[in-house]
Amino acid sequence: MDALARSLADTGLPHPLLVDAARAAIAEGDPEDVEARARRHAHTAARAMLQPVVNATGVLLHTNLGRAPLAVAADAAFTNLELDLSSGRRGSRHAHAAALLARLCDADDAIVVNNGASAVLLVLAALATGRGAAVSRGELVEIGGGFRVPEVMEQSGAKLVEVGTTNRTRRADFASAVENPANDTALALKVHQSNYRIVGFTEHVTVAEMSSLNVPVVADIGSGLLDAACPWLGDGPPAWLAGEPAARQTLADGAALVTFSGDKLFGGPQAGIIAGRADLVNQCARHPLARALRPGSLVLNALQQVALAYLRRDGQAIEFWRMASLATADLESRAQVVVAESGAGKVAEMASVPGGGTLPGTEIDSCGVVLDGDHTAALRAGTPPIIARVSDGRTWLDLRTVAPDDDQTVIAALKALG
Ligand SMILES: *Cc1c(COP(=O)(O)O)cnc(C)c1O
Repeated sequence: MDALARSLADTGLPHPLLVDAARAAIAEGDPEDVEARARRHAHTAARAMLQPVVNATGVLLHTNLGRAPLAVAADAAFTNLELDLSSGRRGSRHAHAAALLARLCDADDAIVVNNGASAVLLVLAALATGRGAAVSRGELVEIGGGFRVPEVMEQSGAKLVEVGTTNRTRRADFASAVENPANDTALALKVHQSNYRIVGFTEHVTVAEMSSLNVPVVADIGSGLLDAACPWLGDGPPAWLAGEPAARQTLADGAALVTFSGDKLFGGPQAGIIAGRADLVNQCARHPLARALRPGSLVLNALQQVALAYLRRDGQAIEFWRMASLATADLESRAQVVVAESGAGKVAEMASVPGGGTLPGTEIDSCGVVLDGDHTAALRAGTPPIIARVSDGRTWLDLRTVAPDDDQTVIAALKALG
């Protein structure tokens, strides 16, 4: 077994994993080709590991591919995570990235938790346990990955106060729910319909209308668009962003708190941000769940880097926005090079999508390469794996989501398809 494991050392896997592969191959009971089978087991183990992939799907925020692309290279180092460098006393981990995020949203204060779902959970637990939280029936939604508003509400200990109907909710519905003493309403929650639309005979209550209710309004905007004016993009907001709620404007409209994800339109690491009124943020920070949901310095460091890029108005430094704002003509030139150098496929117009459960139905004009037949398995088998899309019996590689440095990888993989 040991000799067999050692014969696989060139795979680069640590010895205990090679022993597992050798053991699995021997357990199959067939002495023939045992080394080849052990090598296949080692290969399977290596493929299961977290590794970079080339995203040729055109889905900018692909949940299976880790949503927003992120570069964080950091040498081993201590940080001032909870040290106040000016006083030398214990500091707060919310003093770094969270402070910059508050500045970006024009909020009094902010804290960072593990993800968007935990941001909503913490807000409800800290502000409404044992009391009522009023939500429109049209917003009792499930967002991908099993985030269901009624279930999160139940976990938080808040009591759901359903308001209005599935398709129509008016301010007066909220007002009577909030004024009914039996509901003991602590807050009104507005949940962005991130991944679906209700169309037809509909009526929604805006945050601005809700802000005059006698309870704080919490808006779960989900996607993490910071500012509808997109000052980090030279040309202002792209057309496909129309109607997406933004943190800054939602707070300006009177929300007491907003919650959003770090890895959707914000373009950072997986995180959840709670921003708004200082007393409410503080109540969240003091709740015992805040300790369980807090992020570590890796995440806070990555968020801080993205926040600084926003403050510098440097959208090009944020990978999501760099990709989202590429001109189709530039993608077309790259596609021509890929087709010419690989001798495979044809240049084709296609449509990218924001993805990540944001902006349903929204398409961004794009360009890439299309091949007859389904080649996704072969492309996925390469190193790095290339993830492409199949439709109409053809394989589509959208270059908007492929980093230009990976074009050579795509060319080599297409050549290898033969
Ligand atoms: C995505 C989303 C969530 C969940 O956020 P995660 O970061 O995936 O946990 C919650 N609410 C809304 C409105 C969302 O769009």
